[in-house]
Amino acid sequence: KETNREGYPPLYNKFVTFYSLYLYRRIKDCWNYPICSVPGAELVLKNRVSEDYGWTFKFTGEKTKCLNLGSYNYLGFAESEGPCADAAVESIEKYGVSTCSSRQKYGTCDLHVELEQLTAEFLGTEDAITFGMGFATNALNIPVILSPGCLVISDEKNHASLILGIRMSGATVKVFHHNDVDHLEKRLQEAIVYGQPKCKTHTPWKKILIVVEGVYSMEGTVVRLPEIIELKKKYKAYLYLDEAHSVGAMGKCGRGVVDYYGCNPKDIDILMGTFTKSFGSAGGYIAGSRSLISHIRKHSCASKYATAMSPPVAAQIITVFKILMGKDGTDEGKKRIERLARNTKYFRRRLAQIGVITYGNEDSPVVPILVYLFSKISSMVRTLIKHKVATVGVGYPATPLMQGRIRICLSAAHTKEQLDYALETIDKVADELGLKYSRKPRDPN
Ligand code: PMP
Repeated sequence: KETNREGYPPLYNKFVTFYSLYLYRRIKDCWNYPICSVPGAELVLKNRVSEDYGWTFKFTGEKTKCLNLGSYNYLGFAESEGPCADAAVESIEKYGVSTCSSRQKYGTCDLHVELEQLTAEFLGTEDAITFGMGFATNALNIPVILSPGCLVISDEKNHASLILGIRMSGATVKVFHHNDVDHLEKRLQEAIVYGQPKCKTHTPWKKILIVVEGVYSMEGTVVRLPEIIELKKKYKAYLYLDEAHSVGAMGKCGRGVVDYYGCNPKDIDILMGTFTKSFGSAGGYIAGSRSLISHIRKHSCASKYATAMSPPVAAQIITVFKILMGKDGTDEGKKRIERLARNTKYFRRRLAQIGVITYGNEDSPVVPILVYLFSKISSMVRTLIKHKVATVGVGYPATPLMQGRIRICLSAAHTKEQLDYALETIDKVADELGLKYSRKPRDPN
């Protein structure tokens, strides 16, 4: 009987080869869809600060209304009614939907100027500049700040927009372990000892930029800002802080992690954020010193070649800023910030009692629940959807392979009854899927 070198019949070998190939393709397909919310689902967002807060969810032909625990509407400002929506409608009557020109040409209207003044005032910086897209704010402005010969020391969990911007800048990149200040210091020491030897200044690099986020959207961790500021001062580096998930959502006045820790905003050289989360709108900003902002205003592709932020969007954000700063004459902003903080503490405490494993800081409204196995991510998301609770599933490569999770984003718009319903459902589903553990693993915070 004909055999191959290993002694197996050829047919068996062929079978093993084809089956491995088939498995590889299946796994590869999964990798292409790391963020697995429900495939084929059509989401129609309908956000209100009321019992109505939820998605109309079309899944396998049926429409079901679900409790929305999946979108980043932290302060509940993504409303279809109320002062923010009214301001947007009014501005359409005055300006239309687009200025049809870039900021450097004819795209700047008085709303943009007012918005930038308010952004700087809110954050406590000298100046600010706004853009039509949050992702592009990082991707297109980091190359304006950095060039080849600069060194970036970047947190390993940084967002794709930061990574793209850093790559496009041509700077050298070193990555440090997530939120690990000792490893960051090691990287800073290496940069000085092992850098290019020609330069006579304190460091061989043109400049060193530390890039971190305020709240990490997949981990729920809060950056260790005070320690990082100390390191940046010690090693004469610059600091870039992306507050996409923390501005509005963290701190007593909603001014992000800078406010949460009581740091001086001037200690952060480049403060970036987006209006797509707590502001319930669109676009992004960079805030900092007058000279930094005027440099970006002159040289950024996003202000030279991209159409300015849509006027109704700017009008919506201005209204939110006024509410948050109490300039509307009410304490609605303060109430929403407090409600989000209360919801976050309550939800995280109850999850711990249920016995599921969560990551992140107790004050972080981003709550990842660990399901570990890749296969359990979509089981959990689908079962929760059947019980009318919409969450987002996240797996490799957005997370390590065996640390699949579902992610919940809390909102000031959630009522206690809604959170209780979600918690009961999670309790049931976690039992069904065997997700309760008696021993907690190490928290990355
Ligand atoms: N930075 C971070 C940290 C983000 O999580 C995101 C998107 N969620 C962005 C930037 C991009 O923002 P946008 O969605 O507003 O384009």
